[in-house]
Amino acid sequence: MISASAAMGFGLARSLWALRSVAKSDACSLILRRRHLSSTSGHLDLGKNFAFAFDIDGVLVRGSKAIEEGKQALRLLQEHKIPWILLTNGGGKTEAERVAGLSRELGIKISEDQFIQSHTPFKRLVNTYDKVLVSGGDGDKCRHVAQTYGFKDCVTSVDLIALNPTIWPFHRFTAADMKRAQSLSDSPFDAVLVFNDPRDWGCEAQIIIDILTSQAGKFGTKNPTLDQTVPIYFSNNDLLWANEYHLPRFGQGAFRTSIEKLFLDYTGTPLESTIIGKPFLFTYEYAHSFLNEWRKSAFGYTEDVQRVYMVGDNPASDIRGGNSYGWSTLLVKTGVYQEGDHLDAKSKPRATVANVLEAVLYAIEHEHELSLRK
Ligand SMILES: [Mg+2]
Repeated sequence: MISASAAMGFGLARSLWALRSVAKSDACSLILRRRHLSSTSGHLDLGKNFAFAFDIDGVLVRGSKAIEEGKQALRLLQEHKIPWILLTNGGGKTEAERVAGLSRELGIKISEDQFIQSHTPFKRLVNTYDKVLVSGGDGDKCRHVAQTYGFKDCVTSVDLIALNPTIWPFHRFTAADMKRAQSLSDSPFDAVLVFNDPRDWGCEAQIIIDILTSQAGKFGTKNPTLDQTVPIYFSNNDLLWANEYHLPRFGQGAFRTSIEKLFLDYTGTPLESTIIGKPFLFTYEYAHSFLNEWRKSAFGYTEDVQRVYMVGDNPASDIRGGNSYGWSTLLVKTGVYQEGDHLDAKSKPRATVANVLEAVLYAIEHEHELSLRK
């Protein structure tokens, strides 16, 4: 029986050996890796069969710093024409702005057509709702995002507070913040869209509950039975996320939990909401078709992708969502997940690896084994 390494051919086996050494080594190995790869006969030529979807925070970057193995992993895929997209529950900026920043941090050109953030699928609601409360994010950034998507009447909490500060007397808006307040139309609110983590939970919670229990969306009114009259959408359900701090931090999912509890305590009935982002099916369906479009436009692959590897650090979102959609899942240890954390049955990955470069190497090796069986 022929060994996998022998069957792979010396060149490929040597490439993978060199790539593995890079995962554990230093900058010198990068040069070595390039030498080894350039000495193989062409690319690995596996890219038409599979692709990657990478989470960003805790996988490719941590806070504002790139994870070194992330840079190596993306360069490797680029060199070998293996398609990948970024699928993040982050948000709060336009896709163009975020892609420009990530391209700088990771040292590789990333297209908007391979980037999905938590609120990207809100684009599909543009023709459904006219007047929306755009909740969360820094300053006016999310209003700007909503406007670039095509929403016509975008209101933020500062517009309401500027009109009447007693709506939430403990607000922390500065005079400079108040200057970006925009005048309000008379029309009722059609929906509340939570784009990103609100910076002032108290103020945002008050305004959201006011709108949800208003008379048909008319701000400043209250329907006598406290029925929910306006729909609410959350773009991200992550309870936790990873930044530079050594322990996971509360995310937008924690805000959703607080809104649900407030609504229940206040009205006596459970909140009805729509949650998108990972791990929800809607976002994976969106991402899968988005990925196929990217493969077609960037690589000319006309047939749909056969296998997608979701690489993430958050078992409850990246891994759970990937598993339930039928993708292969690889859990890294550079973010939220820490060695020994409990994994429930739905959040167990195909494999747990040290970092994103190890995840990519794992998948490439697996794909090569599959190709040998044919
Ligand atoms: Mg993450």
